[in-house]
Amino acid sequence: MPKVIVTRKTPGEYDIPGAEVVIGREGPYETQEELLEWIASQAPIDVIVSMYNDRVDDAYLDAAGPTIKGVVNFAVGHENIDVAACARRGVKVGNTPKAVTEGTADMAILLILAAARRMTEAGRYARSPEYAEKGQLSMSDLVGLDIAGRTLLIVGAGRIGYATAMRSIGWGMNVLYVARSRHYAFEFAPLNARKVELDEGLAEADYISIHVPYSEATHHMIDARRIGLMKKRAVIVNTARGAVIDEQALVDALREKRIFGAGLDVYEHEPILTPGLAELDNAVLMPHIGSGAGRYREMMADIACQNVRAILAGEDLPFEVKP
Ligand code: NAP
Repeated sequence: MPKVIVTRKTPGEYDIPGAEVVIGREGPYETQEELLEWIASQAPIDVIVSMYNDRVDDAYLDAAGPTIKGVVNFAVGHENIDVAACARRGVKVGNTPKAVTEGTADMAILLILAAARRMTEAGRYARSPEYAEKGQLSMSDLVGLDIAGRTLLIVGAGRIGYATAMRSIGWGMNVLYVARSRHYAFEFAPLNARKVELDEGLAEADYISIHVPYSEATHHMIDARRIGLMKKRAVIVNTARGAVIDEQALVDALREKRIFGAGLDVYEHEPILTPGLAELDNAVLMPHIGSGAGRYREMMADIACQNVRAILAGEDLPFEVKP
């Protein structure tokens, strides 16, 4: 009977008829070595459902044994997988797009709103004894930024970028987008968005939302120079991958109030934050839970199973990551 392992416990069902399914632990592995030991203890394995923080390389594939046919990432991002190493061994790679789109777009909007309305600072104040002692705030305390009619720049015009842009319609925002190719869905109604170069968009936008995948090309795409192009009232949010932004440069800009605020769900050295970031009032921070709402994680398990079943049947994967 083929064997499928899921390296961490996730919500959802793993319905894979005719296969033995072993689910790993709930919490994280202390080290990659510990993860590889657990994988090796389960070998021989046919398919692994990996997590976005598993490093899938030759050692990982060796641990699974020579029967390994596929790796399915429980995520849409797949920069943790050495896809070329998988291809060399004829190991198929899949991911779980679509299920994560709505939840992550919600997170981008949450971060925009929270940063614009100074939620870190205001939330702390509301819980502090000072609030009760001092009484009502004056009308000029904790005033944030307005959103309606402002300009939103979407960097990375894919599924999540589009879903985020669509959510901005209620605010009547002027939408700009950055991508390598034209995305007509952005340019048609109701978005009527304009494709711009990144530098131009950063200088024009009031709100910037990052949705590009992490790659060599997007590493530090938002660096100190580009942060310097942003307006003083700009808010940048990142729900994609931390290292798309030079986090030290962002911390410096936020500390010196060269931009208004930032909202981050992802970090350059996750789960370690750049020193000083956690203390900043103008940063709204979430612990990489973009897809973590309602049914989305169950849907991810369902999509992972579609890929696993296809791998076991020797069929094309419905959601394949090509080398
Ligand atoms: P997607 O549909 O593949 O969209 C990514 C878009 O980025 C593509 O349309 C692509 O358009 C554009 N792009 C790629 N490289 C680029 C570059 N160098 N410069 C400019 N644009 C570039 O992916 P998605 O489903 O929207 O997901 C986006 C990312 O969100 C994932 O890769 C993942 O890292 C992250 N994510 C995070 C969470 C979370 O929990 N925070 C959850 C899900 C996903 P062109 O090819 O036209 O350039």
